[in-house]
Amino acid sequence: MLRILLVLALAIGPVRAADRPNILFLFSDDHALAAISAYGGRYAEIAPTPHIDRIGQEGALFRRSFCANSICGPSRACIITGKHSHKNGYLSNDFDTFDGNQSTLPKLLQGAGYQTALIGKWHLVSEPQGFDHWHILPGQGNYYNPQFINAQGTKRHEGYCTDLITDFSLDWLKNGRDPKKPFLLMCQHKAPHRNWTPALRHIGGYKDKTLPQPANLFDNYDNRSSSLKLQQMSVAKDFSWGHDMKFRGKNEWPAHFTALGNGEYERMNGEQKKIWDAVYDPENQQFLAQMRAGKLSEKQITEWKFQRYIKDYLLTVKAVDESVGRLLEYLETSGLAKNTIVIYSADQGFYLGEHGWYDKRWMFEESLAMPFLIRWPGVVKAGGKPESMIQNIDYAPTLLEAAGLPVPARMQGKSFLPVLQGRKDKTVESVYYAYYGENTHRVAAHDGVRTATHKLMHFPTTKEWQLFDLINDPQEMKSVHADPAYASVFAFMKKEYAQKRSEYEVNDAVVPKDRSKEEWWIQRHREKVQESKKAGNPDLVFLGDSITQGWEAAGKQAFDASFGSRPTLNLGFSGDRTQHVLWRLFNGEWNGIQPKAVSLLIGTNNTGHVKQNPSETAMGVKQIIDFIRDRSPETKIILNDVFPRSANKDDEMRKLNDEVNRLCATYVDQQHVFRLDMGPQFLQADGTLSKEVMPDLLHLNAASYEKWAKALAEKLKEIGVQP
Ligand code: CA
Repeated sequence: MLRILLVLALAIGPVRAADRPNILFLFSDDHALAAISAYGGRYAEIAPTPHIDRIGQEGALFRRSFCANSICGPSRACIITGKHSHKNGYLSNDFDTFDGNQSTLPKLLQGAGYQTALIGKWHLVSEPQGFDHWHILPGQGNYYNPQFINAQGTKRHEGYCTDLITDFSLDWLKNGRDPKKPFLLMCQHKAPHRNWTPALRHIGGYKDKTLPQPANLFDNYDNRSSSLKLQQMSVAKDFSWGHDMKFRGKNEWPAHFTALGNGEYERMNGEQKKIWDAVYDPENQQFLAQMRAGKLSEKQITEWKFQRYIKDYLLTVKAVDESVGRLLEYLETSGLAKNTIVIYSADQGFYLGEHGWYDKRWMFEESLAMPFLIRWPGVVKAGGKPESMIQNIDYAPTLLEAAGLPVPARMQGKSFLPVLQGRKDKTVESVYYAYYGENTHRVAAHDGVRTATHKLMHFPTTKEWQLFDLINDPQEMKSVHADPAYASVFAFMKKEYAQKRSEYEVNDAVVPKDRSKEEWWIQRHREKVQESKKAGNPDLVFLGDSITQGWEAAGKQAFDASFGSRPTLNLGFSGDRTQHVLWRLFNGEWNGIQPKAVSLLIGTNNTGHVKQNPSETAMGVKQIIDFIRDRSPETKIILNDVFPRSANKDDEMRKLNDEVNRLCATYVDQQHVFRLDMGPQFLQADGTLSKEVMPDLLHLNAASYEKWAKALAEKLKEIGVQP
């Protein structure tokens, strides 16, 4: 911390409150680099992005900018927490709710005197925290006449989503904020997300033009993982009749189009529909006539779909660019431009037909990449195109440093302020990526590492490795992992991958995991979420597996006698490992509570179920401690040594637990984390565990619970918490 502050002070001098830069974070959804002219891709001459381009011309454009997890919610969680998905708890859009009680960029800026606002798409399920003002779309939101939510409730607004978000943002800048304070405004568009619905003033914009298609639109997925063929995101097969392709009425060609209708069209008023129909109907009728006449080959049908898709996509970008233009203009006329950092980015890239796809998720370049353009007058040199790799987890540390604030040690991203200031060429040698899988689009879970020249991917389900040479095969058409010529590169990349996973603490014990397929488990979880909400503030929380759950059964009498007189919350779940506890905490069981103390006992199932490496189990325990410390710094944690198991002290599982305890002892600081080792009370002098203490040599009987209750009560007294 001190070092960071010192470096910062040397670099840019002390940051005075009055000088702290404003931050205008302009953000969109699914914006591919190829759809920004400044990136010079396939649509460099066509992409309607003069204002976005201008940010790069007056500032810098990062070509090697990547996300940590290529889907909407998770990428946003990475950005505001500065952490990888497994550390911020928002792994996928399927089941997760973002735990807003954790430390985030807006909260830290707000705490340091910034005015903070969030306008547009949020998509993290829980209510935004850390913003003085928020005005957001519910979930994905709509393009036409969308509803918005703010603290007062939900309201429908007539108009086009991108324009409304811009209007609301300008209104806050002009009338909503305290002009004496610096600001963070996160202006976050829905566009150009599916279903790519342009503004009425833009529809038909590329009429009669044929836009270029990618060379690998008809990729056959040879020479790569078998999982590529299983996806459901292909231009040829997976576009829907109404939602994606904008036909009306009944799906005439179910073999070519999936069934989903165009809900956006249904939201339009009569006037809007009239303008829409005048453009889309003639084109649609022409295509359908050719279809009915049997004139189109499969290839031609796919190419027609691609044209419909890419034109609509680029036209939604056009409105986003106009929005950027309006905001840049306001910064100039108001005099704010000089001291405002302007960033343009999107939650991830997108496939514009590459590999035959739309959508994202894969670690292949087009959706791994995020646009990142930044203008900061007087700091970022105009026209720069830094070679440095950056990642979305780096934004929070960078912006905190830019605001003269310390970067919390638990943030995993790395500030690239030195690159922005021209003091360094790069800050990292490689980036780590992890996609945890969702039901939608059937993309297999995978993770990997990317250097400036190569990319390694790993698919855990099929245990496949993929290696790509990004210099000689930029389209990633052939994995060279089995090519002897790449043996040393493959070995190096695997080492880099292992190193990154170790650095970011990625392993099964740390990655939050639900057991939602087990009915009793998810039911108990729901009850505990409700109990946590109602609990107000329990004095004591008991966190763990079956042994903790047992306070409600064999240990009930002992529990009631020792702790029954005060508010308590039992978060023990039979069979849980560290990863399950983490999932429960992230998903509502730790509902903003600030207990006086927590009894934590977890790990024996990591040992018992999979004989997990003790260093991994210990990392899982540490992640639980970090979780509590981040949300409730005053809570005292009694870290129970994992209880001895098995009769014999030389039993393999006993020894694994011993090793977990040895490693976890290093987390004890006698200030926030205290140790309680019941081993000596439960074991005989020679280390034997008796069935009189634990009848199944794993779980306690009533008498043993009494011993544990007594020891816990004494420990609580010792650390200043009255039991
Ligand atoms: Ca997205």
